[in-house]
Amino acid sequence: MNKKKYRKRIRFRKRKKLKRLIIAYLLRAIVILIPIIMIILMVCGCLYIYDKFTNEADMIDIYADNDATPVTSAKYNVPKFCVAIDAGHGGSDGGTVSGEVIEKDINLSVALKLKAILEDNKIEVVLTRSSDENISLAQRTSIANDFSADFFISLHCNYYEDDAQIAGLECYYNSPDAMKSKAYAESIINAVSLSNDIKARDAKAEGYYVLRNTQMPAVLVEMGFLSNYSERQKLLSDDYQEILSQRIAEGILQYPCLQGAENQPPVSCR
Ligand SMILES: [Zn+2]
Repeated sequence: MNKKKYRKRIRFRKRKKLKRLIIAYLLRAIVILIPIIMIILMVCGCLYIYDKFTNEADMIDIYADNDATPVTSAKYNVPKFCVAIDAGHGGSDGGTVSGEVIEKDINLSVALKLKAILEDNKIEVVLTRSSDENISLAQRTSIANDFSADFFISLHCNYYEDDAQIAGLECYYNSPDAMKSKAYAESIINAVSLSNDIKARDAKAEGYYVLRNTQMPAVLVEMGFLSNYSERQKLLSDDYQEILSQRIAEGILQYPCLQGAENQPPVSCR
């Protein structure tokens, strides 16, 4: 064998040896990686199963402690319970007017505050009006019905010219679903009664148009008497409107507690 041939053979052997080495290391890497990948997959699988089971446990818990108070929709984690809020009057219809105080403005202001509180509690809200505009009674009920709201609440202020001493919040109900409407009205009165700031009167049946023509539990709240001087001053106050909205919202959110055997969290409006 000459020198040239000998060198060529040496180079060939070296390359072959290098190839074997690379293949050997690749195989070792694969042998090490496979169990690592398997362990990662197993851990991910376990985490997924754990997550699924704990979520289901939470859902079961929702139904388990219905007696706890206060109950809110945020606790239920059911985001699509829908409330239609109707700010009474609007536009050329001012409602009750007492001096420079116009009912429609107080109604809208409380409606917007109530909307914000309910939305903070993961309740979906539809307003029949969000500004000073004319909306017919038929339009108000159509908005709630078309939206398939779960609950309708109409906000008003009262007036009694024969006795300026009369004061307090009243709730009216009379819809096709009257038992639930009554329960909502009582729930709101209960929540308001717990406040030292608001005087609560009672829940009464009354055949108002918006209560007769809504296809869901419906309540009309007379938030106070503009004919009573001190209540009128309170109704004009931003702080009082905030307390009022908070209490009305609590009345709505605590409603499922009143249902006994029928105890259910708010359900989707769609
Ligand atoms: Zn009114």
